[in-house]
Amino acid sequence: MVYDVLILGRGIAGAVLAETCRLRGLSVHVFDHKMPGNATLAAGGAVNPVVLRRQGLCWGASFLMPSAHAFYTAWDRRLGLCTWHDAPVVRLFANDKEAEQWAGAMRNPDLLPVLARRPEPEIDDGPFQAPHGHGTVTGAGWLDIARLLGAQRRDLLAGGALDERQLRPDDIRPMDDGIRAGELKGRWLVDCTGAFSGQVGLVPVKGETLTVRIPGLHLSRMVYGGTGLVPAGGEFFHAGSTFKWTDIWEGPTQEARDWLMARLAEMVRLPVELVDVHAGVRPAARDRKPILGVTGPRRAVLNGLGARGVMQAPWCAEHLLDHLLEGKPLKADVDVGRYSS
Ligand SMILES: Cc1cc2nc3c(=O)[nH]c(=O)nc-3n(C[C@H](O)[C@H](O)[C@H](O)COP(=O)(O)OP(=O)(O)OC[C@H]3O[C@@H](n4cnc5c(N)ncnc54)[C@H](O)[C@@H]3O)c2cc1C
Repeated sequence: MVYDVLILGRGIAGAVLAETCRLRGLSVHVFDHKMPGNATLAAGGAVNPVVLRRQGLCWGASFLMPSAHAFYTAWDRRLGLCTWHDAPVVRLFANDKEAEQWAGAMRNPDLLPVLARRPEPEIDDGPFQAPHGHGTVTGAGWLDIARLLGAQRRDLLAGGALDERQLRPDDIRPMDDGIRAGELKGRWLVDCTGAFSGQVGLVPVKGETLTVRIPGLHLSRMVYGGTGLVPAGGEFFHAGSTFKWTDIWEGPTQEARDWLMARLAEMVRLPVELVDVHAGVRPAARDRKPILGVTGPRRAVLNGLGARGVMQAPWCAEHLLDHLLEGKPLKADVDVGRYSS
């Protein structure tokens, strides 16, 4: 058998690509071996079209958000799950200047549809410290990544479409009419190995998140103050994250844990219980845009998802398959070729 697509790596990039191939009726086989530093396992799952620090839309928000929303809600429907949650992001202003900047940003026509300054009962009546007020990003959401990817894993294993093992460079050999990965043959091999790859153009960034329990706090929104709080079911939350450009593979550190717990103590007037710590390495590109395209004979890449993997992966998977299988041109700003000159 010759598979249409072989996929190396099943973080959010490989997982979404596998589902997109399935939707197109393509035969697919995935190789994945979980290793410390996996970005997807550390991610909180937040999907936010606004860069809160700059109060501007992030790159591609106008096409990435609708694509992500449609993709994950359709996947949920097929699996009978509810892993996508429409939820606003509430920004707690650090000072009066930030509140004024938000008011200014709300006059920007591009941001009008997504920024608001409305009452938020969960914040106003809740245990949050917000002396300078807050603003709301509408049109955001969060994904329960672990649940969705866990369900996909069971499906793929049941269908014999997932090998949970590490492929080494010499397991991959181009052939005249395709490419071989281990014992399997495909028309294309797509590398979705994130920061583990040696992909030119990547500047990997380490991040840490915590899983915390905050008894008494029930929240349907995501809240960002000194750090972010993303609901994770009941009284559990993902908190984070940090950014670090050195010693990126060192794993969880006491320093990051203390920093995140201190930010939470400033944000929430309730005791916070630490449940778990996570460290991952974001596959960020130098220009903070995805990296897609052909890298060699029958080989392609879907990488560079940086800090917004959940939002970017569905559009990237479609765009890459359109290019590989239908010969459609890639958008210049995501083309891997921009790093080859
Ligand atoms: C702390 C933190 C918090 C984050 N929070 C968010 C968030 O809230 N929202 C959001 O959208 N994004 C978030 N991100 C970013 C997001 O996690 C990444 O954009 C995304 O996970 C990248 O996915 P990926 O599939 O490219 O890489 P990865 O998730 O790293 O997946 C790569 C996979 O390939 C496997 N692999 C590598 N080499 C091989 C091999 N030779 N053989 C077999 N398997 C191999 C790896 O083990 C891994 O399973 C966060 C990242 C971090 C670190």
